[in-house]
Amino acid sequence: MGNITIIGAGTMGHSIALSAAWSGQSVSIFGVDARDLETAQKGFEIKLRLMADNELIDNEQAKEIAERVAFTSSLEKAVENAEFIIEAVPENIGLKHQIYQQLEGLIANDIIIASNSSGLMPTALAEGMKHPERFVLTHFWNPAHLIPLVEIVGGEKTSEQTLQRTKALIEQMNKQAVLLKKELPGFIGNRLQFALFREAQALLDAGVASKEDIDAAVTYGIGRRLPVTGPLQTADLGGLDIFYAISDYLFEDLSTDQKPGRTLSELAKSGKLGTKTGSGFYEWPEAQSRAVQAEREEALIHFLKQDMEKE
Ligand code: NAD
Repeated sequence: MGNITIIGAGTMGHSIALSAAWSGQSVSIFGVDARDLETAQKGFEIKLRLMADNELIDNEQAKEIAERVAFTSSLEKAVENAEFIIEAVPENIGLKHQIYQQLEGLIANDIIIASNSSGLMPTALAEGMKHPERFVLTHFWNPAHLIPLVEIVGGEKTSEQTLQRTKALIEQMNKQAVLLKKELPGFIGNRLQFALFREAQALLDAGVASKEDIDAAVTYGIGRRLPVTGPLQTADLGGLDIFYAISDYLFEDLSTDQKPGRTLSELAKSGKLGTKTGSGFYEWPEAQSRAVQAEREEALIHFLKQDMEKE
């Protein structure tokens, strides 16, 4: 295997790069300018240090991982030895099309181009490509170096070979590959996440409980089981007679809202966007925001260590 090339050095780009380098691959990462690359490099180093501090890796491994990654603002240089390309530029289909066109002018026909798009359909993304059979969607989750799931989604023209080569590479990166049999908005992960988010908003807007209690019902309840058993396995463990009966009377009462809820709409319109602006559903003083994010990263590291012990 040659290089894995990551196009885009933002939130996702540099953590995907870290994931690939951790699995032993050489990585080139393209960022738009020196400032973009400096931010990416800093983010990369902080994440690497946290991994070493939490004994996911030792200091020698941290050094080797850092040495496997080359940061560049030259697209030509980034793809020079590329065997597999992952695009992680902003969620703008016009921009993504433009990047694929540039890439196809620089690389051989059999090099896979994968997009990390959160929700754009692979068929639409591959429109205008000379070789759409080599295009695929690989949806990494944030933070990509700590969350194992990568959803793989082909478009109408994606070849079976591309899907299988992509799955093999994602598994080589020690990720949990989930291959969809058809493309659809939100793939699997976001459909499930947003089904829960829609119901949480409906409960909040209807005044059923406080935001703290709605969150607690998940983190101290179903959330405790979900790392071990998904929703279908959970139903098997609970008994399908029970889950059938509850589905039968509860489904008709669940939210079917077609638009974002009242509170979310008001918050978003008034610029209260969560931790990044200091308030959202909750108030987020800087220290509180940092503490929750650190707590979440530590929990993710704990799960990764468990995964590694099982291997
Ligand atoms: P980001 O804004 O943090 O980073 C984007 C990067 O793209 C920039 O750092 C830069 O290197 C590059 N870029 C910006 N403008 C460019 C241009 N004109 N030409 C070429 N490169 C350019 O974005 P992100 O959050 O890393 O998201 C990247 C992709 O991953 C998007 O498609 C997004 O939907 C998807 N995604 C994001 C998340 C998330 O939680 N952030 C999760 C899953 C998927």
